[in-house]
Amino acid sequence: MTFNELGLHPALLSAVAKEGYSTPTPIQQRAIPAVLTGTDLLAAAQTGTGKTAAFVLPILHRLATVPSHPKRQPRVLVLTPTRELAAQVAESVATYGAHLHLRHAVIFGGVGHQPQVDAFKRGLDIVIATPGRLLEHANDRTADLSHIETFILDEADRMLDMGFIHDIKKVLKMLPPKRQNLLFSATFSDEIRTLAKQFLHNPQEIDIAPRNTTVESVAQKITMVEQRHKRELLVHLIKQGDWQQVLVFARMKHGANRICDHLNANGIGAAALHGNKSQTARTKALADFKANRIRVLVATDIAARGIDIDNLPHVINFELPNVPEDYVHRIGRTGRAGLKGEALSFVASDERQELKDIQRVIKREIPVLQVEGFVPRNDAIAINSEPRPARPPQGGRGRSGGGAAKAAAPRGGQPGRGPRPSGGGAPGRSGAPPPRRDGGHRSGNR
Ligand code: AMP
Repeated sequence: MTFNELGLHPALLSAVAKEGYSTPTPIQQRAIPAVLTGTDLLAAAQTGTGKTAAFVLPILHRLATVPSHPKRQPRVLVLTPTRELAAQVAESVATYGAHLHLRHAVIFGGVGHQPQVDAFKRGLDIVIATPGRLLEHANDRTADLSHIETFILDEADRMLDMGFIHDIKKVLKMLPPKRQNLLFSATFSDEIRTLAKQFLHNPQEIDIAPRNTTVESVAQKITMVEQRHKRELLVHLIKQGDWQQVLVFARMKHGANRICDHLNANGIGAAALHGNKSQTARTKALADFKANRIRVLVATDIAARGIDIDNLPHVINFELPNVPEDYVHRIGRTGRAGLKGEALSFVASDERQELKDIQRVIKREIPVLQVEGFVPRNDAIAINSEPRPARPPQGGRGRSGGGAAKAAAPRGGQPGRGPRPSGGGAPGRSGAPPPRRDGGHRSGNR
């Protein structure tokens, strides 16, 4: 199928061609015709599948072909969980709608009210907003949502995770009863189905990604490493692999700052992206990262939601997320639109439970990468099974004599044949020397 066959406005076709898209992605093939008919839609599609264009293209088409309200009150509302995602959707609207004379604005907190008030006053066709600031404008009567023709709830699962349900309900009350509703979510959880029942009417249902499966084009690996050696390991991997663009996920904001400081101190340009940063700092960090002015962006889950970077090759989970579904979202930052990407998770011995939960959710075991010089004692083989007490070494320590990293043993491994740090340079438990930095690394073949 081609974009031409979808019957889109010629201005959209040329914008899409300019972006270099040759064929619509599966979600686009199914969602675009559905949205064009005016039906409600319940769509499960992960980020990275082209879901944004799947709703932006048909809504732009409808706006371009049906004349606007004389007062230019907003006709389309896109609600997103984060500022970054709102900005991302707005960027898509600007890109795909470059040849149409439509007006849009992105409305979120953390920035001044006045420019947003002015935008509403001038008149808008499309509003892309996070709930809090939009409600402020609606309560101040700056935003009139009574002419909305199409309402889109993007990343609805995350909206619910972030506790936006009450805000969503408040927004829904401000919309006219007769309208088209589109709900996009990475998964169809029971909560999503309940929400869908509350405002979708006979929706067409599209489920592109099977529930909680991770993007196939992402090579996923885990590496076992002691918590206190993680920062060293990160520097080692970036330098050794000459990685130029790395997105690192940290659980906590202050942890993200510490990782950044460590990278910068080691000559690797890095910036943090999290909720304690001002919107200006967040926008600058993302722009610097996209333009390759810094090599590493260290983000917390919420701040990173919606980040879309072309060809992002490396994602590092510095810590595993507490919520297994967040793992799917995190690694979805790479391997986008069919390109290859790599996601490596650093797993400390106290993160086994999180690892188990993730593997259960994604229904697969993640292969192990052992990085020479960073393999903790006793942990390497047991990584995908229960931790075992250390056995006396057979054949003496350092038997492998400092070669490159060893492949991890298969599941259920060979008891008693390891785990063992190789070459005597691996960090031990307390008081161990710092990790060696002379080793190579390769993937375990599982
Ligand atoms: P999304 O899932 O909306 O976050 O999109 C992921 C990435 O896919 C974005 O970088 C888009 O620019 C890109 N993309 C969207 N549609 C297509 C397409 N039909 N062909 C190639 N890339 C696409």
